[in-house]
Amino acid sequence: MISFKKFHHFRKDPATRDKNSEVSLSPKDFIQPFFLVEGSEIYRKISSDCPLFHFSVDTALKEIEKLLHLGIDKILLFGVTEKEFKDEQATYATSPSNPVYLAIKAIKKNFPNITIMTDICICPYTSHGHCGIVEGQKILNDKTLPILAKMALFHAEAGADYVSPSAMMDGQVLAIRQELDKHKFSNVKIMSYSIKYASSFYGPFRDTINSSPSFGDRRTYQMDPRNASQALDEFRADVEEKADVFIVKPAHTYLDILYKIHQHSPKALLCAYQVSGEYMMLHASAQQGYLDLNQAVTEVFHAFKRSGAQWIITYDGSRYWSEK
Ligand SMILES: [Zn+2]
Repeated sequence: MISFKKFHHFRKDPATRDKNSEVSLSPKDFIQPFFLVEGSEIYRKISSDCPLFHFSVDTALKEIEKLLHLGIDKILLFGVTEKEFKDEQATYATSPSNPVYLAIKAIKKNFPNITIMTDICICPYTSHGHCGIVEGQKILNDKTLPILAKMALFHAEAGADYVSPSAMMDGQVLAIRQELDKHKFSNVKIMSYSIKYASSFYGPFRDTINSSPSFGDRRTYQMDPRNASQALDEFRADVEEKADVFIVKPAHTYLDILYKIHQHSPKALLCAYQVSGEYMMLHASAQQGYLDLNQAVTEVFHAFKRSGAQWIITYDGSRYWSEK
């Protein structure tokens, strides 16, 4: 006679369920992004229906103090610029008046123990909105690399702990690593957007940083959502180029990719990036009463961890932990 297995005793009460859980969440797993603008006392929603915010350096400092109280000790900084500061060569990316540069210095001075990560891409600063230098309608990969390297060095000099190349230019990690090492910044680590798909879920983010491309789209350099094996090749290339942390972006629709890489390299430090469209889907559904926000968000975060991510980049970290 066949007997059936009994699983209910693993689930019978909260303490037993906790004891048998394979993953858990801690504020230390979380990285909070900041969108920084010029000026002071700025803390504004990017639009009435999108709960993402722009911060000036002073308001960012206040927010960081709150994050540290919650136990979140990693932040990822993005710059946002007005049209008049944008040009074809993204000159403003390395301007001493760039809010990211000013923020790194101010944050390090006020909160020396926080880990500062900075986005390295030129699309917030290019007049055409692309992540690479453009000639006609073409993206010039190799001409973009020195600019990314210069931007990374600029952030390292200001005090960044990690630089985070997101342009999806081939060779970007190597170019940045060499530039940092050459200037004695071997201690500055690289958290690479190793896997970045050309996704429709970035919509609200593009509005946040005013960086929609003026022509074409990013499909010539971001990954094709139909491909999985290429993701492993992109990951291996970043390992060879000496990246320290590997981001999969977006996360919800690419859990198979996270899992695949985790199976391939269990020791690699993987980071799931919950992008703005994914975040907004959950919030919009909760607003409509379709979902319980915190239950749904917790389930999603657990899925990231279960798939192999150790770190999670999300716009929701500070809200989530403050309501815990
Ligand atoms: Zn970009």
